[in-house]
Amino acid sequence: MSINIAEKNKCCGCGACVQVCSHQAIIMREDEEGFRYPIVDKVNCVECGLCEKVCQYVNQVEKNKETQSAFGGHITNEKVLNESTSGGAFTAIVNEWCDNDYVIFGAEADGLNVFHSFITDKGNLSKFRRSKYSQSVIGNTYADALTFLKEGRKVLFSGTPCQIAGLRAFLRGKTYENLLTIEVICEGVPSPLFVRKYEDKIRAKYSCGIATLDYRYKDGDRWDYEVMRTSLHNPNGVTIKCDRWFNPFWSIWLNHLMSRPSCYQCLYTTSNRVADISLGDLWGVHIYCPDLYNSNKGASLIITNTEKGEKVVKSIMGNGFEGRELDFSQALKYQGPMRKSISENPQRSECMTDLRSSMDYDSIIKKWAKPSSLRLLISKYVWGNNRQKVNWWRFKQAIKKY
Ligand SMILES: Cc1cc2nc3c(=O)[nH]c(=O)nc-3n(C[C@H](O)[C@H](O)[C@H](O)COP(=O)(O)OP(=O)(O)OC[C@H]3O[C@@H](n4cnc5c(N)ncnc54)[C@H](O)[C@@H]3O)c2cc1C
Repeated sequence: MSINIAEKNKCCGCGACVQVCSHQAIIMREDEEGFRYPIVDKVNCVECGLCEKVCQYVNQVEKNKETQSAFGGHITNEKVLNESTSGGAFTAIVNEWCDNDYVIFGAEADGLNVFHSFITDKGNLSKFRRSKYSQSVIGNTYADALTFLKEGRKVLFSGTPCQIAGLRAFLRGKTYENLLTIEVICEGVPSPLFVRKYEDKIRAKYSCGIATLDYRYKDGDRWDYEVMRTSLHNPNGVTIKCDRWFNPFWSIWLNHLMSRPSCYQCLYTTSNRVADISLGDLWGVHIYCPDLYNSNKGASLIITNTEKGEKVVKSIMGNGFEGRELDFSQALKYQGPMRKSISENPQRSECMTDLRSSMDYDSIIKKWAKPSSLRLLISKYVWGNNRQKVNWWRFKQAIKKY
């Protein structure tokens, strides 16, 4: 039997089936919502059944059972911190694990296209930094990783939890001492149709396309404003910045109107994880660990799920990374994607129909993006609630010390 995706919510598009097929009988193809699914070419297929064996929906990938720990903090290199999405834990871990003869896998972007690739020189790591909120094209990277593992090289593979599960399924449960896996804590991937409509609008207005889309530009010390910065292919170097509270992308996506169907029933939004290390934003930092707030320049949450992961993370502490261990259950409290999947918005199919239609960007956002309430805007821009809480905490600490 060959793979047959009868229900779209039972395929996360990890691509393990494509890479395991030595007859090149499977390709990934975008559906009308912009998500990729495997398509089997019956002529080349020999019905060996390997594609089903590596499908994480047929044979679930076992979650790690070792003791987990939580850590928080940020990398001390300011330039790298500025380029990183959260607190730069990814770079700190790479610096520690990749000493010599290493290969690093991650997601890079070329305009709106996001794809997985590998580098053999840490000097090129910047292309993997910055979260790209779009499912990356995984290509042949599981097979490439296996080749390097067999050669005895150190492999660091980063991606979404379902991509790490895809890699582990592809490796058929075999463990490698020279492999370290890092997953981002992920609540889903949005349809690329939205940003494509956004680019259409940019083209109409500026007569050029998008050069880079930085979803989480730090803008100095505005990490939790989740500023999106669009740089254009324009000789005048036009850039457009938009804070989260005014950005229709965040409004529509975080209302769960345009996520991949499988994300609504994600197999990995649990506290047990598939990778050695899970990385996320240290949300709630101003409440439960204000000493790590880092003046809103960005802070990372690091969850270690294996002994190997814990060893690496413990050795970055105080070694280019300022941080400490956190209470695991507190960390979990502020991380929805480690507790449950997002719920599908009942209006999703109507929103996706509009995105698929010829409706233009302005009409889409008028219909689907919700403006932020005045109360929220005041709390963010006038009161500055997180910063205020941290300053109050610092004041109390100073009094105590005095
Ligand atoms: C689609 C997506 C959803 C996320 N959702 C959440 C969330 O709900 N809550 C939360 O706390 N954190 C979430 N994150 C993780 C967070 O945004 C940061 O990526 C993480 O904290 C690492 O930050 P850093 O500063 O250590 O790394 P950076 O140096 O910024 O490194 C980014 C890392 O993310 C990987 N990456 C970037 N884009 C992609 C992609 N499209 N697909 C696969 N891997 C990618 C890179 O390979 C690299 O390992 C999400 C990330 C992505 C990509």
